[in-house]
Amino acid sequence: MLPISSHIPVLLNEVLDGLRCDKPGVFLDCTVGCGGHTAAILEQHAENRVIGIDCDAVVLDSTRQSLAKFGSRIALYHHRFEEFEDVMKEASPKPMAGLAGILVDLGVSSVQFDDAARGFSFQHTARLDMRMDTSQPFDDSLTAYMVVNTYSAEDLARIFYEYGEERHSRRIARMIVAARTQASIETTTDLADMIFQAIPRRFHPKTIHPATRVFQAIRIEVNQELRQLGDTLERAVHYVQPGGRICVIAFHSLEDRIVKRTFAKLAKGCQCPPNFPQCVCGKLPLVTVISRKPIMAAIEEQQHNPRSRSAKLRIAEKLA
Ligand code: SAH
Repeated sequence: MLPISSHIPVLLNEVLDGLRCDKPGVFLDCTVGCGGHTAAILEQHAENRVIGIDCDAVVLDSTRQSLAKFGSRIALYHHRFEEFEDVMKEASPKPMAGLAGILVDLGVSSVQFDDAARGFSFQHTARLDMRMDTSQPFDDSLTAYMVVNTYSAEDLARIFYEYGEERHSRRIARMIVAARTQASIETTTDLADMIFQAIPRRFHPKTIHPATRVFQAIRIEVNQELRQLGDTLERAVHYVQPGGRICVIAFHSLEDRIVKRTFAKLAKGCQCPPNFPQCVCGKLPLVTVISRKPIMAAIEEQQHNPRSRSAKLRIAEKLA
């Protein structure tokens, strides 16, 4: 079994307060992972229930065992959260009054990251994989290997720039394409060494490995992490009861921007162009934004859990 306890849930108290889960209700945890947040939600009130989703079947199996003590108060589903409607159809008993709250804690868990064989980290030599969902065969899936060895230089550069905010995106992309004409790029450390070489020494970042941004970008592409986030949040709001909360934790600026804009859009309601004298779309505000600024981890949390350093929590409340 995986060392499930190695993942420390981020912003735990802030999430529990944000979701107001000291009052009984049914909560949807879209990224149940190792179950840290979910267990705490269930412990907050004896009548709380959680419907949990994760796309990683391996992690979910371990979590199922560690949360078994909560019996029928927890139901876990192997799905992408973008497909949460299918889960809601299946879940029983259904939350008739709507969900009391939704949590989305994005990114990879420490258990996934620290499992060398998954290929998320350049600290260990491993096959270039980076899939969160490994339920399909490697060769039939979009993997880091496929991205690195088959995408055009233009596509690689775009991904590195957009998803990794990597300034040397074109240079790294060119180097990868040149290298793979000799032999395919097989491992995480081969790729990391190549990026190390591609970025001139004087531009190497001081606090992170030069390959960090490119690895993040490839992970986002492999798992299609940003594709439907905003759209999914817009659909999910309709499942929340009035006064219920939506908490989203993002780990990089692109994700956080999507969350911020989506909440602002839902809080505004009307989508008519600004020059329209009156509203013709008839869309009403659906939420109020509780966190004008994102909530960040306190210094003490950042010190004992490095993963929390980049975490940004935003909270919205469903209107009546
Ligand atoms: N809150 C959890 C940790 C979540 S880590 C805890 O306290 O243990 C993020 C999790 O989200 C990972 O397990 C990852 O597999 C999952 N995940 C990421 N993107 C997903 C998606 N699109 N659909 C479902 N799960 C996803």
